[in-house]
Amino acid sequence: MAHHQILIVGGGNAGISVAAQLLLKDKSLDIAIIEPSEKHYYQPAWTLVGAGDFNINDTVRSEQSVMPKAAKWIKGSASAFVPEQNEVQLTDGSKYTYDFLIVAPGIQLNWSAIKGLPETLGKNNVCSNYSFTYAPYTFECIRNTKKGKAIFHNPHTPVKCGGAPHKIMYMAADYFRKHGILNKMDIQYWSGGPKLFAVDKYEQTLLKVVKRGNIKLHFLERLEEIDGPNKRARFVGFGEHNKDVETWVDFDMMHVTPPQSAPDFIRNSPLANEAGWVDVHKHTLQHVRYPNIFALGDASGLPTSKTGAAIRKQAPVVVANVYALVQNTTVSGSYGGYTCCPLVTGYGKLVLAEFDYDNKPMETFPFDQSKERWSMYQLKSKLLPWLYWNKILTGKA
Ligand SMILES: Cc1cc2nc3c(=O)[nH]c(=O)nc-3n(C[C@H](O)[C@H](O)[C@H](O)COP(=O)(O)OP(=O)(O)OC[C@H]3O[C@@H](n4cnc5c(N)ncnc54)[C@H](O)[C@@H]3O)c2cc1C
Repeated sequence: MAHHQILIVGGGNAGISVAAQLLLKDKSLDIAIIEPSEKHYYQPAWTLVGAGDFNINDTVRSEQSVMPKAAKWIKGSASAFVPEQNEVQLTDGSKYTYDFLIVAPGIQLNWSAIKGLPETLGKNNVCSNYSFTYAPYTFECIRNTKKGKAIFHNPHTPVKCGGAPHKIMYMAADYFRKHGILNKMDIQYWSGGPKLFAVDKYEQTLLKVVKRGNIKLHFLERLEEIDGPNKRARFVGFGEHNKDVETWVDFDMMHVTPPQSAPDFIRNSPLANEAGWVDVHKHTLQHVRYPNIFALGDASGLPTSKTGAAIRKQAPVVVANVYALVQNTTVSGSYGGYTCCPLVTGYGKLVLAEFDYDNKPMETFPFDQSKERWSMYQLKSKLLPWLYWNKILTGKA
């Protein structure tokens, strides 16, 4: 059985950032990353792909090209943890032991939890930005819809990037406005959440954008089924006002966000909290029962919005705390729940929402970030993708 000083599960945004930062700190560290995929994706740009404002091919690179040279890539999928023996098992039957484990396999997309969705996704004007394969089809749907009903769905579960299910709706509304057909469109938002956005300051601006697009909002609705060929979807209410009320909604196009959960192999492991996520301390990111295990990113149980921007603040904390333990000192790095959601509200318009565990705004720039700005749209569409590939994945930002 092979042994590594530091074993990382998942070579996505979180896993690669942490590995790169650790190796910059100390190149003698023995780090291995378990990652099954040959491809690495920059998912935040998929919103712009769906809006026809970013090339899908610029959101993917080979995993090999982002893997730190000094790290060992174990091409495989982790399937089980035996933390008492510091052991991770893979689906191919191999086993690895570690001194320190960092768990970052991302979130699981449960497409089949909605009846009819896997069969109709990518046709019948049913699209989703939550997939590399189908994000370009979103723009096809927007472009080809000249009148009628456009439904944008947000599930009842946690999702990665809480803004993504509605950001594409604002882009679509702006597209219809630019092409002079907004008055022929009936745009509707059907959400499993209780409101549009958790932080009031930014929600106020979004409500104005909703008004501008004449968008109708429906909350506490769970999507159960899509009948693609007949272009209709079935929702069931679960609020006080709509409990168990079933509604069939016809549509001309529908953007779906799949329900999401912790990956099954995490949920069924001793590392999980009650909700299935890796049970780590919200400030130190150290596991609450196994002190040599850490987690960050979408699979972690951190009570903040699941974004790459959050990982940028989590990664240095994991790095500091793991390295402290490597050196036999105590953990002192602390994460305050920072997350950021670049809310595109139209072509060339963006509200840069930044906040902490208490939903308190934590803004970077010396101006009111709740205002829609062209400069912030440039940040999202040009600067952040460059930063991701060149600085974040190399551990330099
Ligand atoms: C449409 C969309 C829009 C978004 N917009 C934004 C945005 O504007 N701003 C922002 O900050 N974030 C945004 N995000 C969210 C951001 O992409 C994620 O939060 C981020 O990628 C999470 O990083 P991660 O490393 O936790 O997971 P991922 O980057 O998803 O990586 C997980 C890795 O683990 C691997 N893996 C899975 N299972 C196993 C296993 N069993 N064993 C080993 N490895 C495994 C996967 O192959 C993958 O490489 C968006 C996401 C989407 C889909």
